[in-house]
Parts: sequence; C-alpha cells; structure tokens
Amino acid sequence: MKIALVTGGSRGIGKAVCIKLAEMGCFVLVNYQKNIEGAENTLKYVKQAGSDGQLIPFDISDDKDTKRALENWKKDNNDKHISVLINNAGIRSDNLMMWMTDREWYDVINTNLNSFYIITKHLLQDMLVNKYGRIVNIVSLSGIKGLPGQANYSAAKAGVIGATKALAQEVGKKNVTVNCVAPGFIRTDMTKNIDEKDYKKIIPLGRFGTPEEVAHIAGFLVSDQASYITGEVISVNGGLYT
Ligand code: NAP
Repeated sequence: MKIALVTGGSRGIGKAVCIKLAEMGCFVLVNYQKNIEGAENTLKYVKQAGSDGQLIPFDISDDKDTKRALENWKKDNNDKHISVLINNAGIRSDNLMMWMTDREWYDVINTNLNSFYIITKHLLQDMLVNKYGRIVNIVSLSGIKGLPGQANYSAAKAGVIGATKALAQEVGKKNVTVNCVAPGFIRTDMTKNIDEKDYKKIIPLGRFGTPEEVAHIAGFLVSDQASYITGEVISVNGGLYT
C-alpha cells in the first residue's frame, strides 16, 4: 500500500485529492493546520472509499513544526516511507504591490513556496533510495500568467513551477516524477468571496471548476498511467488562459 501525504487535506481541493488517492488504494496522511473537524471528516471519506489513513497536523509555513511532525511520523513508522506527496495547502493574501505589507508577502511565500522546499526535501531521500516517488504540486493560473493584486501569490506559485522543472530533471533517473496541476477558479473556501457570476463570462467553459475536477488530474499524475510524465504543468481552468 503506497503511503501518500496530502497537505491541506481538511478542505477544498486537498480533501478531494485525499478521497481520490484513497479510491486508488493509497494510505492517506491528511495534513491540516487548525481544522480538526474538517480533517476528521476527510478521514471518514477516505475510509468509506475502502482505504485507511491518519491525521498529521502541522503548520507548513513553519519549518520547525513541519520537520518535527515528519520526524515523529517516521519514528513511529520506521519500516515505512511516504512515496506520494501532494503539496496542496496554500493561502492567498491579495493586495496591490503598492499597498502590500511585508507580512502579506512573507506569509504567502512561506506557505506556498518555502513549504514546498521543506517538505519535499525531507521526503525525497526515501523516494530516491526506494527508486519510486510521485510528487504533485498544486500551483495556480496565477503562477503562469500573473494576476494583478497577487504579486506575492503569483511569485510563490511561479517559484514552485520553476522548482518542479528543475527537480524533475534531478530525480528522473531514480523513477521519481515531479509535476504541477494549475487550477483556475475552483469552488472552495479560497474563492468563496469571489462572485462566480462576474467571472464566468470570461471562462470559456462558463463556470468555476470543482475540487474533484482538480483531484482527478492529481490522481492521474500519481497513477502508473502517468509514469512517463515529469516536469509538466497541467492546467485545469476551463480554458481561461489569458
Ligand atoms: P482552501 O479551501 O482555502 O483550503 C486550504 C487548505 O490548506 C486547508 O486544508 C487548510 O487547513 C490548509 N492550510 C492553509 N494554510 C496551512 C498551513 N500553514 N499549514 C497547513 N495547512 C494549511 O484552499 P483550496 O482552494 O482547496 O486550495 C488548495 C490549493 O489549490 C492551494 O495551494 C491554492 O493556492 C490552490 N489553488 C486554488 C484555487 C481555487 O480557485 N480554489 C485556484 C488555484 C490554485 P485548515 O483547514 O486547517 O485551515
């Protein structure tokens, strides 16, 4: 049974990814920051999907908390290793650059970009030794085209895309693939204050996407069918490019 870690599994896209991976037979480690009820609910669905899992709370923006949680898990599971990593958890804190506070910049960079480095580096050695790994990073349309009011978020997501392409070339020979999924507007808590009516006119498919539509692609990139795909960014955005 492959062991998968999904960051931000308590809600939205991460929750849908946890359920998808459970359907594919993975044991799912459900990470969250604060929302224990949401994480327990996800775990319930993981079990209903016929698999099993465990909660693993830590703050991905805090390197010490992250390392402590991952080291403790390893101590309790010495004979096991995480072979599937979905770097999903993220935040946005939008503001025009002119008005952006240092806090808004650093919180978004720490949560969306630096967490990728800390978690991936920590788990990479086991993947390389075992000559198998699947890393999927949930980025954003914002990291491809840049969106006004999101210089911090666009920079973080573009940073993860660049790191994905570099890392894919470093670890390909060890059968570790590294890819990104780039959602457009998806119906989750992150977009609950954005009026779908205003935006759907500019989306060719005429609506926001669902978390399950993103999870499906993440699941594909983890599956054996995607064994020859690495360093890629797959958009799930209803055709919204420019
Ligand atoms: P969401 O509904 O707001 O959920 C965010 C998840 O991340 C929650 O599980 C939350 O945990 C977790 N999280 C946030 N900060 C964390 C931290 N410091 N440590 C650990 N967990 C943390 O978000 P979403 O819409 O599903 O977004 C998921 C990913 O997709 C993000 O990377 C986001 O940037 C990306 N994305 C989303 C959209 C969209 O339209 N929704 C579009 C493009 C990209 P708690 O529940 O414990 O707070």
